[in-house]
Amino acid sequence: MTGPLPSFFDIPRDELTALVASWDFRSVHAARLWAYVYNSGAARYADMPELPARFRARLETEISLVLPRVAAETHSADGFTRKYLLALGDDRRIETVLMRFTGRVTACISSQAGCAMDCVFCATGQMGFARQLTPGEIVAQVIHIDRVLRPPAAGHRSLGDPRNPSPHARRERLRNVVLMGMGEPLHNYEAVMRAVDILRDQNGPAISARRITLSTVGVIPGIVRLADEARPIHLAVSLHAATQAERAALVPVAARWPLDALLEACCYYVKKQQRRIFFEWALIAGRNDTPEQAHAVGRLLHGLSAQVNLIPLNPTTGYDGVPSDRAAARHFQEILAEYDLPSTVRQRRGLDIAAGCGQLATASR
Ligand code: SF4
Repeated sequence: MTGPLPSFFDIPRDELTALVASWDFRSVHAARLWAYVYNSGAARYADMPELPARFRARLETEISLVLPRVAAETHSADGFTRKYLLALGDDRRIETVLMRFTGRVTACISSQAGCAMDCVFCATGQMGFARQLTPGEIVAQVIHIDRVLRPPAAGHRSLGDPRNPSPHARRERLRNVVLMGMGEPLHNYEAVMRAVDILRDQNGPAISARRITLSTVGVIPGIVRLADEARPIHLAVSLHAATQAERAALVPVAARWPLDALLEACCYYVKKQQRRIFFEWALIAGRNDTPEQAHAVGRLLHGLSAQVNLIPLNPTTGYDGVPSDRAAARHFQEILAEYDLPSTVRQRRGLDIAAGCGQLATASR
């Protein structure tokens, strides 16, 4: 054997079916394998008795079912957030977060090990770029969180009768995914979109496109490409400032993709996709939370189908800005409303375990 086996989580269902056919096994076996992994949570071929032994033996030599190893796990004191440090096959580390809100659970997943975008307030940016994640490494984070929520039944033996689902199938499924963890998703476009398509498979992870949100710092070619493709996920653009100079100071890639061109790409996206766009705004006290900034963003986005999500800055050791208080956030919202711009102030989660937006980083590698 040379090198590691390809990961199951890298392979879309149609490609798996074709691969299985190329080994002279029937498509029903590929469908059952897919259901075992994504619907029953089976983690070993040995736990798939409805597959022929010969097929299972072939799988053992061709495709790996291994998920990243959990190197560390931390829980927030309020019990709403769990953060996982995952070790990839080459021992690179990434972080993935499970967040509970009223009535829903969300997985915040990473798209790169580290990040090259260098946003000044972000712990991931401060650690630099290590490498791109593969589609399977992106999908595997979602499957890890899903299995935390729905641990596979012990001694699992059968795919079961859909009218009498197993305890695993009856447990709460993960339905919301945000690509807001480590990395810039549009800087790893091909892998991210392949992962998104696997996650959307209705016979597989079955995450609705409308429950997937991709956050970008403003990679214009990726926004335009996303606008041109039929993949109805939500797009959130990290704006943080309403003037080019101020934005470039917070988000260095603004020098490459300036604010006016970014706004043009956002308008194109809204027009082409007929979908509202979200703008993220990390509220930094005395820096970008002033009435002048609120009026500036109101003027900038007025008339665009948009919503502004305000997030009081999450502290990191490498940046000395402090979060805005509630009064400043409320006043900012009131000014946005004057421009017919809907806005929310995001619930912050997991700050005590450094699991908030912009706080993800790995101590090693
Ligand atoms: S905020 Fe996002 S894009 Fe910016 S450095 Fe952090 S991970 Fe990268």
